[in-house]
Amino acid sequence: MTSSLLRLCAAVAVACVPVAAAAQDNVLNLYSARHYQTDEALYADFTKATGIRINRIEASDDQLLERLKSEGANSPADVLLIVDAARLARAQELGLFQAVRSKTLDERIPAQFRDPGGEWFAFSNRARVIVYNKALANPADLASYASLADPRFKGKVCTRSGSHPYNLSLVAATIAHEGEAKAEAWAKGVVANLARKPQGGDTDQIKAVAAGECAAAISNSYYYARLLRSTKPEDREVVEKTGVVWPSLAGHGTHLNVSGAAVLRHAPHRENAVRFLEYLASDSAQRYFADGNNEWPVVPSVKVANPALERMGTFKADPLPIAALGRNSAAAQRLVDRAGWR
Ligand code: FE
Repeated sequence: MTSSLLRLCAAVAVACVPVAAAAQDNVLNLYSARHYQTDEALYADFTKATGIRINRIEASDDQLLERLKSEGANSPADVLLIVDAARLARAQELGLFQAVRSKTLDERIPAQFRDPGGEWFAFSNRARVIVYNKALANPADLASYASLADPRFKGKVCTRSGSHPYNLSLVAATIAHEGEAKAEAWAKGVVANLARKPQGGDTDQIKAVAAGECAAAISNSYYYARLLRSTKPEDREVVEKTGVVWPSLAGHGTHLNVSGAAVLRHAPHRENAVRFLEYLASDSAQRYFADGNNEWPVVPSVKVANPALERMGTFKADPLPIAALGRNSAAAQRLVDRAGWR
């Protein structure tokens, strides 16, 4: 057994393969920041189709990046599955990935949703939307992200921290389209309009909107879809009191972000890793992967039938390449710091 496998076994107490079957065997070591029940079926299907067993380590995105950094060349990880363009860019900057050239991936995944150098590929996408309180705001006044900085919403906006990757990627997209000066003016305008100190996650913002603590908030689309699908009375009440806007970013459409995966630089099972990514781009996996978190597949021919997403209506998506978010995410971080968007 390789030392890296031993480390994996020791770390998570997964079932370990016998010595004779080690190194070259049919295994894939997956570090994943996704943890949805539907993913179980996804991985089981892969094993059924290929005979490749998946050893999975689940942790938060940031924990996985820290772990990979400290494991270095000894890492047993083959594939990293994480969320958000800013985090993919950070992992890439740390030199954690290796380039993959795959005809299947290049054909299936639109250029907008993969790294031009083949170091990462997105497998689902989500939108950053505005949620408003029906009694406190008119959706017509919230048609763009810019409206959140409009003085008419002074003291009426809720957000999570500006430093959270979801908001950093939104600021990065604003920089890409409008330049840094305009993006900074926008961030300062949002900060000036805050109803309260940034706190909590996106769902907390939606609940604060429903409670009337703020008139409008920013959230990822799947958090709202999750509430739409919930049968809990308190969630139904939240949905009743709120509405969703698909805001446009400077006329380009609604900002998108992604879940993505990459083959790690020191992957002991590189071929299996590439097969896994190609599998994630298949029709059935795309459907599972996206629907499990109320997202959309990146492969354009694959459609999901998700009543919650359908209830939220249609929108024009910003066609900005996701790689552009990563390129601007360091600038976005400096900018939100200057704007005091804590
Ligand atoms: Fe999230």
